[in-house]
Amino acid sequence: MSKKSIYTEAVHAGVDLDANHGAASVPIYTASVFAFENADEGIAIHNYEKPGYFYGRLGNPTVDALERTVAELERGEAGLAFASGMAAISAAAFTLVGSGDHVVAPESMYSTTTNFLKHIGESFGVETTFVDASNAESYAAAVKPNTRMFWVESPSNPLVRITDIAEVASIGRSAGVATVVDNTFATPYNQRPLELGADLVIHSATKYLGGHSDLTAGVMAGSRELVEKARHGAAKFYGGNIAPQVAWLVLRGIKTLALRMERHNSNTFALANMLLEHSAVQAVHYPGFEDHVNHEIAKRQMHGFGGMLAADVGTAAAAKSLVNNLKICTFATSLGGVETLIQPVALMTHATLSAEERSAAGVSEGLLRISVGIEDVNDICEDIYSALG
Ligand SMILES: *Cc1c(COP(=O)(O)O)cnc(C)c1O
Repeated sequence: MSKKSIYTEAVHAGVDLDANHGAASVPIYTASVFAFENADEGIAIHNYEKPGYFYGRLGNPTVDALERTVAELERGEAGLAFASGMAAISAAAFTLVGSGDHVVAPESMYSTTTNFLKHIGESFGVETTFVDASNAESYAAAVKPNTRMFWVESPSNPLVRITDIAEVASIGRSAGVATVVDNTFATPYNQRPLELGADLVIHSATKYLGGHSDLTAGVMAGSRELVEKARHGAAKFYGGNIAPQVAWLVLRGIKTLALRMERHNSNTFALANMLLEHSAVQAVHYPGFEDHVNHEIAKRQMHGFGGMLAADVGTAAAAKSLVNNLKICTFATSLGGVETLIQPVALMTHATLSAEERSAAGVSEGLLRISVGIEDVNDICEDIYSALG
């Protein structure tokens, strides 16, 4: 499909009427085995000399539809789907790095990615330097002769910090380092890292792509060369492939991605401004604010500022009291669903980090992460306002 509006693409991407008897909704192919018509065809498909399917872990028409959809939305040549965001993240890493290699990654990001990089350091000798990713130059400063991967998460979890993707990717290109962007928070509605020069983009599709807090999945997109390397390497060996039933749910979620993101963007802008006015709130982190440290970069590389913000209510006790008093918003971890999800960060997702690591990541005791849903913004604001006391 040519470069249409994402509102149109999100609805039509992946649908193949000719291959599926005109079915307007991609069918769920549950088969783990696909029969061959004759010896020559079977051998050709099995040996990847001819397109086709033969075994569930290695390819499935429903999963294929999701992979084509994600590639199209992210402007990649190819896509790959996984059972979780972490399966996509580990596959990206193991496609690009091996023992003795070096990685540069943000000091503030999704904590399981931080812990994964520390884990491959301890277990496989892949060292990571954690840097201040809001300054692209810190990637350049951390490069070593054995650096193979720049990791970027922008906006980042939980402080919605922004990294200049084009700048980091350009530093990477001149140093022979591949740049991977976790685009979970922004989604292709707000930001397209491959167009900014990144080599691979990954998502936890559990979040906005699925969009309804009802599935766990991950995706990757990029050049055909890198994605096929991942497909025939990390994805095949570690086996984190997505189930066709889940791939279908992600496809269904993506149909309304643009509509949902438009609303997430506008609701979050309104809530961020409301929180700023409340005396119990000490700080609001939101890239849409003009005084956000990377507001200019966000404006340049993003279509909208996204559905995530963080607010500091001062103490852990105040954060706990707020979540206990919510009537409409949901006290839960995760993000990207249609419902507003709120969690105290230091006490939950970032509790696995040490106090020093939390402080380096800027995660204070009273920090709340808010994934602003698509409910009526006045209801969201009133609920949080009265829960703040
Ligand atoms: C949730 C999340 C992940 C991990 O994804 P799972 O689907 O839970 O495995 C990775 N990165 C970011 C930014 C996330 O929000």
